[in-house]
Amino acid sequence: MKAVQYRAVGEAPEVVTVPDPEPGPGQVLLKVTAAGVCHSDIAVMSWPADQIPFPLPLTLGHEGVGTVAALGDGVHGLSAGDSVAVYGPWGCGICVNCAEGKENYCLRAKELGIMPPGLGAPGAMAEYMIVDDPRHLVPIGDLDPVKTVSLTDAGLTPYHAIKRSLPKLVPGATAVVIGTGGLGHVAIQLLRAMTAARVIALDVTEEKLDLARAVGAHEAVLSDEKAAARVMELTGGLGAHVVLDFVGAPPTVETAGAVARVDGDVTIVGIGGGALPVGFGTLPYGTSVSAPYWGSRKELAEVLDLAHAGAVDVHVETYSIDEAPLAYERLHDGKVNGRAVILPNG
Ligand SMILES: [Zn+2]
Ligand SMILES: [Zn+2]
Repeated sequence: MKAVQYRAVGEAPEVVTVPDPEPGPGQVLLKVTAAGVCHSDIAVMSWPADQIPFPLPLTLGHEGVGTVAALGDGVHGLSAGDSVAVYGPWGCGICVNCAEGKENYCLRAKELGIMPPGLGAPGAMAEYMIVDDPRHLVPIGDLDPVKTVSLTDAGLTPYHAIKRSLPKLVPGATAVVIGTGGLGHVAIQLLRAMTAARVIALDVTEEKLDLARAVGAHEAVLSDEKAAARVMELTGGLGAHVVLDFVGAPPTVETAGAVARVDGDVTIVGIGGGALPVGFGTLPYGTSVSAPYWGSRKELAEVLDLAHAGAVDVHVETYSIDEAPLAYERLHDGKVNGRAVILPNG
């Protein structure tokens, strides 16, 4: 079968032919309908060899939707042809956090060498993929796989980040979304669906700000050196109750800290390598700073329920599997508006 692989440190991803996978005991084989292209792949592919936590070559794709093609021995409860989304942050399934469905915070994944598909295990950017356990699959029913696939990360990750700050997102509150790409443009929609907060979006091009406005941002501000002052002006000099940084680069985390309100939340989601110093006097009193990771299985089910209710619409551009390297190139160059999705069997 064809697969999109990151094969050598510093090289661009390549489309290669690999053996067709077969499901072992307890595993599920999916025929992949759609696989999302995420900016974090580009970050990972820029890391030096000693920072890459998995062996190469690696089949990419940590956002996947497919149909059940075959069940390994002992798997019940799924039928061939079922349309399912893959919950990506695989854990041990046994520790106390996994028991709560928070496999993204599994206590033993590292020790046991359990890695997410596309970020260690073979991912969704192939004609077929192996899913280690049926508990990682959430049926999507009649949802469009192409529109739904990115909800497994670009939906789930912002949902998890927003949900923990919901007590602060009361009517009259302000939320700032920095970076309105794959995750950010979904975050704006989730904020509008889940809260009555005012949403201020920041990004670096007018095209991206247009998308931010189209998906529900009340204000859209060009992310430059004047952005923090503009946000302060828009919030009457008080700053935002919740700041979600989907870039996480040094300049954006600085902006995030500069626009936080007293007792606000700053949440750094993007893996752009930025760090925000926390200590008395560095930020407004009571500001919390956190860097969450992905989301829980239950939260994925909640995001898919929002999709069923029509509350979230991922803006996608589609590519064949042979065009996957081009999709990564366009994403790297900031040319993708919304999310790029690969159709491995399309
Ligand atoms: Zn991702
Ligand atoms: Zn666990």
